[in-house]
Amino acid sequence: MNIYRLQNVYRILKNGTVRLTLLKTARIIGLRTLLVRMDLNNFCNIRCIMCPASKIDSGTVLKKIMSLHHYQKIAADIFPRTCSLHLSCGYEPLLVDHFDQCLIISKKYRIPFVSFATNGMLIDEHICRVMIKSQIDEIIVSTDGATPQTFESIRKGASFSRLIQNLKRLQEMKKNVNSKKPILRINYTFMDRNIFEIPDFIEKFSDFGMEILQLRPLRIDSTVFNRRDLFTKQGMNEYNQIIGKVQQICKRKNVWLTALPAIRSVEHITSTDNNESIDKRKKNNACILPWILL
Ligand code: SF4
Repeated sequence: MNIYRLQNVYRILKNGTVRLTLLKTARIIGLRTLLVRMDLNNFCNIRCIMCPASKIDSGTVLKKIMSLHHYQKIAADIFPRTCSLHLSCGYEPLLVDHFDQCLIISKKYRIPFVSFATNGMLIDEHICRVMIKSQIDEIIVSTDGATPQTFESIRKGASFSRLIQNLKRLQEMKKNVNSKKPILRINYTFMDRNIFEIPDFIEKFSDFGMEILQLRPLRIDSTVFNRRDLFTKQGMNEYNQIIGKVQQICKRKNVWLTALPAIRSVEHITSTDNNESIDKRKKNNACILPWILL
């Protein structure tokens, strides 16, 4: 199931009534209609400069991990109705010892699309084998730079060389057994210091198996994090200058690109404090559910 193509079709179909009717019809005839996103823990092994999670004082917040038993109960309850499962929203799932079992269980319920996001530091041989054997659909690796200097200045505590080594291993292991899955998606959070590296990044990471690239602007929520100097008008202008070239490179490299075609206001795009801005975004990003049914 290619959820990215379906997302595009869904955006074209703007009529809310038609969308809702399709969803209701799907439920009536017994199709899977749930999109599930869940974290299995509440901590990370690195400290990215733009991440609210990295601001959490590990001394005051109790680390929690969902037990395998609890996961199995959730799975039995909702996975038979789930069409798309995303294991991890804001933390690092590979720190969970039984994460491999969680992946295996998910696929036993024949969920059509299973994905998870990671910073890539802990993708070892074992987890690669599990992903390939259970045919996990997608792994999303968050990576924000084409050079060790930029990457490690943003992702404090992460290692660029280890990331490359891990991605190459996954690519090699997939090739050895002729498996297309998991597909590799990269999430690239852009800000002033890494925008100019995006073209080089695509050239380099497409060779390591990147098939999908999402460029996401830095978001600022001043209640937990306030670094307005990280993404400024200068960065916005640079983005607008290179985005055409970025689209061309992705086309040539056969990388599916999800990115804003242009940015008109830094404040509008980065702030999560502005309610009007949030409302507008929500309106433009309506629920995808009706189009990821099987
Ligand atoms: S890897 Fe993800 S969860 Fe961890 S600090 Fe970075 S952005 Fe936050």
